[in-house]
Amino acid sequence: MSELLERLANLPLRENLRGVSPYGAPQLDVPIQLNVNENTHPMPEVVRQAITEEVHRVAGQLNRYPDREFVELRERLAAFLGHGVTPDQVWAANGSNEVLQQILQTFGGPGRSLLSFPPTYSMYPLLASGTNTAYIAGERGADFDLTAEAAARQVRESQPSIVFLCSPNNPTGTALGLDVVEAVYAAGEDAQTVVVVDEAYAEFRQTGTPSALELLPGRPRLIVSRTMSKAFALAGARLGYVAAAEEVTAALRLVRLPYHLSAVTQATANAALKHVDALLANVEDIKLQRDRIVNELTRLGLTPAASDSNFVFFGGLADPQRTWEALVSHGILVRDVGIPGHLRVTAGTEAETTAFLSALERHLGTGQG
Ligand SMILES: *Cc1c(COP(=O)(O)O)cnc(C)c1O
Repeated sequence: MSELLERLANLPLRENLRGVSPYGAPQLDVPIQLNVNENTHPMPEVVRQAITEEVHRVAGQLNRYPDREFVELRERLAAFLGHGVTPDQVWAANGSNEVLQQILQTFGGPGRSLLSFPPTYSMYPLLASGTNTAYIAGERGADFDLTAEAAARQVRESQPSIVFLCSPNNPTGTALGLDVVEAVYAAGEDAQTVVVVDEAYAEFRQTGTPSALELLPGRPRLIVSRTMSKAFALAGARLGYVAAAEEVTAALRLVRLPYHLSAVTQATANAALKHVDALLANVEDIKLQRDRIVNELTRLGLTPAASDSNFVFFGGLADPQRTWEALVSHGILVRDVGIPGHLRVTAGTEAETTAFLSALERHLGTGQG
């Protein structure tokens, strides 16, 4: 143990923080970063200009606290979502991780539980632990599928306070049918379970894959979570948001810190939302690269999962750790999510995708894949 870790262990830490490491994928300085599902396309110049001007404008007012209710931003987010969502039904924070934490602070806590279905977003158990909420790991079928029937049965059995459904799911990439969300919501009637659908990758979904936003009317325990970190290419700005019944957003206000969304964050997000079309223009190209990865990996004899997101989860590797290292040696960073035989890769620009595919093909050709 390093001397610092020893000193840390001597602190009067909360029990559930003992021996824990901070969450985060390795941040290696390699040229092609396809490991954390960022949008790798450059920010369009028109959006960059708009953000710069808007931030310059508010910089003159930074002596004042920002609009605590971020009214303009909620209006713009509601307009973007459509589906009849009103500004009073929208709530935002510094990344969807913060909104998810606020949901746990509001509806979880000691004596309460969170159910989700691994493999899924690895932050869920950590957010549960950080709020002293019991974490229940549900089960998926073979091929990591989750049927309405199996999900509803597990909700009835465990009576959780909260369920997180990730759709499209990270790391597998596949979206859930709305029948799963409906069944989980209905199964949570007795326990008054709050159902959160994390749609961080919604903008990349295949044509015909619906959003859980459609299910909001008449379902006051349903929350749909989105982020500007992926399709909007604004991971660095930290802006995540949810749509839910007005009483749910009123409840989330009970735990938010005052002025949690800085004036700079609000200005950045508002400026970006004035240019949604320019910002999302890259999404179609990313979807093309994603489909190209799925096709090429299949041709190479690997088994990619169907993807509604900007990344591809693929199996069929004899030694994923070795493949990961071989790709790093070519300057390409992908994600080892710890599932035997599998890796996850973000769809990059056309050039990045080409570099990934040819490095992988060469590596597999060595017979060490
Ligand atoms: C990337 C990601 C998020 C986004 O987190 P932010 O805090 O908004 O950057 C949320 N959920 C899932 C499943 C993700 O993969």
